[in-house]
Amino acid sequence: MAIKITRPQGTEDITPKQIYKWHTVEQIARETAESFGFHEIRIPTFEQTDLFLRSVGETTDVVQKEMYTVKAKETEFTLRPEGTAGTIRAMLQNGMLNDALPQKVFYILSCFRHERPQAGRLREFHQFGVEMAGSEGPESDAEIIALAKNLLDRAGLKNIVLHINSIGCPICRAEYHRALKAYFEPHRKELCPTCQTRLDKNPMRILDCKSPICAEIAKDAPLIPDFLCEECRTHYESLQEYLRALDIDFLLDPKIVRGLDYYTKTVFEFITTDIGAQGTVCAGGRYDGLIEQLGGKPTPAMGFALGLERLILTMESQGCAFKAPKKCDLYIAPMDKAATPVAMQLSNTLRHNGYQVEYDLMHRGLKAQMKYANKIGSTFVMVLGENELKSQNANLKNMETGEEIAIALNETFEQRFDDLAVQYMFQDILDEMEKEN
Ligand code: ATP
Ligand code: MG
Repeated sequence: MAIKITRPQGTEDITPKQIYKWHTVEQIARETAESFGFHEIRIPTFEQTDLFLRSVGETTDVVQKEMYTVKAKETEFTLRPEGTAGTIRAMLQNGMLNDALPQKVFYILSCFRHERPQAGRLREFHQFGVEMAGSEGPESDAEIIALAKNLLDRAGLKNIVLHINSIGCPICRAEYHRALKAYFEPHRKELCPTCQTRLDKNPMRILDCKSPICAEIAKDAPLIPDFLCEECRTHYESLQEYLRALDIDFLLDPKIVRGLDYYTKTVFEFITTDIGAQGTVCAGGRYDGLIEQLGGKPTPAMGFALGLERLILTMESQGCAFKAPKKCDLYIAPMDKAATPVAMQLSNTLRHNGYQVEYDLMHRGLKAQMKYANKIGSTFVMVLGENELKSQNANLKNMETGEEIAIALNETFEQRFDDLAVQYMFQDILDEMEKEN
């Protein structure tokens, strides 16, 4: 017997039973982004490895431990571990930054990172992200954060806290790096091997280390807000004013430094305690240096990425509503061979009008067909037997109330079904409203 092949560790199948949750969050994400004037971009699943080395940064966990890299015909490619690098590459390559600024794009894509799989941490996961290029003022930072907040509100999330910080610009960060080096140097030997190299190359990354030993050492490390230059401080303070104006609560969290190298000034995370240790649902920040670093003209930019698995987990744990999947409107049960082509024709007519219609494809008896119609939750069932064909009249059975409504199998069929379906829909809405009152 052949050995069963299973999916790779850290990946997930999203079956038709689960997909409505994904459709819900994807729709919320799209509608939110569009309401802020962002437009969708689609980029390749893999890029030249160099793109990620130059953007995400060589001292990050992502580059050091988590990339899926393949060599194909002498060129190295990497499955995208995140969406920003590819998006900026695409903006540059397509001349988008020569167009009207700011350029505002969003994406929904899969990312690949070789991590230890656990709840909310996968090897293939999905992000909704936005990037805005061209504007440098703090009102842009507020706009990006407001977009994320708006999305989380639409999803119905409560109990998710916005943490913000500023990690300064290259000028004030140099000062901060010196202070960090001085602080960590006496502990060099105790740090994990990764952090020992970080100490030389990018000491701020040590604050982001997941090792409990490094975290303990970092407990009393100097904090970046004490080192911000005048410009970065003013930017940070204005952002806070705008957030207050927008009624968005936030926490100043000087420990947030973000996992990727390209951030400057504002960084932020939306964190929940409802889904265990992997509580950062959304994370982002400003990255004013990245576009130049990738060969473009110096252009300020900002964005965030939101983990869709973590969003769905949080929504589930908080009992948030997902949009119900579309159900079958009509199931037709043909009782003999002659009824089958009629069932086919009627089905197709209604499908053209946007209804979901099914008929028997399993050669089942009436009882089994009714059971199936129930299982798929069909609103109406119509039996087509010898009598119905002869009289050209059938009954639509409302599966919820059991009520039977006559319908003629002639040129009035389409219109009559439409009327009944609309009536049914309104009844549903009226019932809902009654329940609420
Ligand atoms: P973490 O500290 O949890 O590893 P990160 O800093 O690596 O996060 P980002 O690169 O900022 O994460 O990615 C943005 C968002 O993508 C995260 O906030 C999270 O919601 C999601 N995310 C990141 N890595 C994973 C993963 N392995 N599995 C599921 N979601 C993830
Ligand atoms: Mg990570």
